[in-house]
Amino acid sequence: MQFSKLRLTGFKSFVDPTDLFISDGLTGVVGPNGCGKSNLLEALRWVMGENRPTSMRGSGMEDVIFAGAATRPARNFAEVSIHIDNSERLAPQGFNDADYLEIVRRITRDVGSAYKVNGKDVRARDVQMLFADASTGAHSPALVRQGQIAELINAKPTARRRILEEAAGISGLYQRRHEAELK
Ligand code: ATP
Ligand code: MG
Repeated sequence: MQFSKLRLTGFKSFVDPTDLFISDGLTGVVGPNGCGKSNLLEALRWVMGENRPTSMRGSGMEDVIFAGAATRPARNFAEVSIHIDNSERLAPQGFNDADYLEIVRRITRDVGSAYKVNGKDVRARDVQMLFADASTGAHSPALVRQGQIAELINAKPTARRRILEEAAGISGLYQRRHEAELK
């Protein structure tokens, strides 16, 4: 499973549809302060099901919607899609019947978030589990936020353990066990 393209529409500073092609060897994004580098990383986490506004540097979920600028009015929705090359058929069960996966998340003011995988409506949990089982996702240790290294050094042992479990790819199992125990 390989990410191939990220598309942002009305997400934070990316008001017009913007494509980021993720090709082999891409390890970083550089640019002047405020050009949207961190917003790109947040879009990637958001489309994988991130649901904590604080980790999107906002106070409410709708803060990801383009809020307007001097010359442009605010938008009513934000949408991010991620294209995944699945030609090697490594996607988790239930998502593994196509050569590519397109995951779309859209948030509309006063309505909330909706998710689609290859055009079909799915739940947030389905998208979160898809990525958790593929050892990636919104909390993946592969995505390093600004300031996160300092947080890691200062973390309590239980928080550090969670990070290691995420890296080992077993957090999907914990989520399932937790849900089974609630039933
Ligand atoms: P730095 O190098 O300082 O870390 P950066 O490239 O990471 O900068 P970002 O933090 O990604 O920059 O982008 C910040 C810009 O995004 C700011 O100009 C901010 O006004 C804009 N922005 C954030 N949220 C929204 C929103 N909801 N609507 C419009 N613009 C937004
Ligand atoms: Mg930044």
